[in-house]
Amino acid sequence: DGLVKHFPIHGGLLGRTKGTVQAVNDVSFDLARGETLSLVGESGCGKSTVGKCLLGLTPLTAGEIRLDGVRIDTLAGRALKPMRRRMSTVFQDPFSSLNPRMRVKEIVAEPIRAHGLARTAAAREARVGDLLERVGLSRAAMGRMPHQFSGGQRQRIGIARALASEPDVIVCDEAVSALDVSVQAQIINLMMDLQAELGLSLLFISHDLAVVEHMTHRVAVMYLGRIVEVAPRRAIFAGPKHPYTEALLSAVPMVEPEKRRERIVLSGDVPSPIAPPSGCVFRTRCPHAFDRCAAEVPPLRPVGAGHHAACHLNETA
Ligand code: SF4
Ligand code: MG
Repeated sequence: DGLVKHFPIHGGLLGRTKGTVQAVNDVSFDLARGETLSLVGESGCGKSTVGKCLLGLTPLTAGEIRLDGVRIDTLAGRALKPMRRRMSTVFQDPFSSLNPRMRVKEIVAEPIRAHGLARTAAAREARVGDLLERVGLSRAAMGRMPHQFSGGQRQRIGIARALASEPDVIVCDEAVSALDVSVQAQIINLMMDLQAELGLSLLFISHDLAVVEHMTHRVAVMYLGRIVEVAPRRAIFAGPKHPYTEALLSAVPMVEPEKRRERIVLSGDVPSPIAPPSGCVFRTRCPHAFDRCAAEVPPLRPVGAGHHAACHLNETA
């Protein structure tokens, strides 16, 4: 609720503050049990920072995070630990996110150990074996090292580790971006199966709308630290209401010719998050910008069932 994350940039001999990166500005959303919400946007839009804030990996500048109604961003130490258990993550790079010197058994057992979820070493090992089988690997994988596996298999190990603490929420940050397209599909299918079976809530962070199209329930589009549109999957793919989403979608390759859109090529670059534009953050690249866009930040307005967009053009009345 109202998440804000600003980073000071230090520089110069005396380490004076040179400015502030406004990575996340007033971002609010909810995530239901068993739901997948995809956070989509170009690199640098703040989506990974939102994920880190949720996981408690970086403190908020402002805002609140609640899990089942309990505020968790203010918790620390002992009080935070049980909440940490309920949220886990799958990282982008299956080649660097697994400790190369640990055996798979130790990697997957770590959260079980950290949260005291098995009484004995034998129980822990049995649980690791179950988790590996659940993600499509054999129990024999336990004794091996990460380098003995392919990228897709490593991501399966990462998923087994994420499941080990029996979480309710998993934040997947570009979890399939480093994989080949055919392997991406396998991993996405696995995540969907696990979600249905375990009732997991997934925050699926991706720069690629095409990747999320077949697996997500809702999509939130971010641009320069803000959510500019959020909607159920069908609504966003069938009728985007924000000019930025339209441009992003026009770049998604479509197999069916009737679904193909004219490519909208945005001019210019994403402005610096140190000095974001006044008013609408998208206005410097928006083909429809008009006077008011520089003066007023457009709020997320309802534009359909569960569908909100932050653009002055959507103002009715
Ligand atoms: Fe474009 Fe203005 Fe809408 Fe922003 S508010 S997306 S600049 S038309
Ligand atoms: Mg990122």
